[in-house]
Amino acid sequence: MKVILLGSGTSQGVPIIGCKCKTCTSENPKDKRLRASVFVETNNSKILIDTSIDFRQQILRAGITDIDAVLFTHHHVDHIFGMDDLRQINQRLDKYIEVYGNNTTIEEIKITFRYIFDEELIRYKCVPLVNLHTIENKPFYIKETGIIPIEVFHGRIRIFGYRINNFAYLTDCSYIPESEYDKFNNLDLLIINALRRKPHPTHFNLEQAIETAQKFKPKLTYFTHITHDLNHDEINSILPENIQLSYDGLVIELKD
Ligand SMILES: [Zn+2]
Ligand SMILES: [Zn+2]
Ligand SMILES: [Zn+2]
Repeated sequence: MKVILLGSGTSQGVPIIGCKCKTCTSENPKDKRLRASVFVETNNSKILIDTSIDFRQQILRAGITDIDAVLFTHHHVDHIFGMDDLRQINQRLDKYIEVYGNNTTIEEIKITFRYIFDEELIRYKCVPLVNLHTIENKPFYIKETGIIPIEVFHGRIRIFGYRINNFAYLTDCSYIPESEYDKFNNLDLLIINALRRKPHPTHFNLEQAIETAQKFKPKLTYFTHITHDLNHDEINSILPENIQLSYDGLVIELKD
C-alpha cells in the first residue's frame, strides 16, 4: 500500500497571499503547502481522501491518472472545491467515481455542486460523474479494501477520519471521543492535523497533535493541515522521535 501526501497546508495554503513571514518567504520546497489531501493506493483500489481546492495541480504533480473512490472528511471549502476536476478521470476512463461522506457532507455537496446532479448535464457528461454514498460510522468496503470511518469533532461538527489497513488519516480534528480510541490500535502510520503553536477552537495545535501521537503510539506520525506558523526545518528539529511535519509530495510505502 502506498500513501501520497498531496497537500499538507491549512485552508489558506502556505505561502499565504501577501505574507512576508519566514515560512511564507522560505526557499525550502517543504514550506510550500497546498491544501490538505492524501491519495492511497492499495493492491486493488485507488482512493483519494478529499478533493482539495488544489486537486488538479496535485494529481498532475503526483502523476495520478485513475481514482476509484473519494472519501470526504467533511464539507469545508478547502476539502471539496477541487471536485469538478474529477471530470477528466470520468471522461478518459469512461467510469463513474464512488463518493463517500457522512450525511452533512453529502447534503452540503449536493447544495454546493448543484449542477453536478442536473440530469441534463449528466447526459452530456460535462459534469463530474459520481455515485454518492452517505455512510454511517461503520466499516465498509471499496472493492476489497476495508475502510473504517473514525468519527471525531471539528469544533462542534462531527466529521470523519478514515482508517485503511494500518494507516489512519485525521484532518481538521479538535477532539477524539474515547469510543473511537480502538481504531488507532497498532498503526504503522498516522497522519493527523497540527495547525499551529497557539490553541485553536476547531483544530489540534502542535501540542495536542503530539499528545495524540504519543497516546496512540503509531510507528510513524506525520502532521498535516499546517499554517505558516510552523516552519518545516525549525519544527522538525524539535519534534519527538517518529513524529514529523509532513510535506507535499511525501510518499510512504506500507504493508497491505
Ligand atoms: Zn480544512
Ligand atoms: Zn506567512
Ligand atoms: Zn474544516
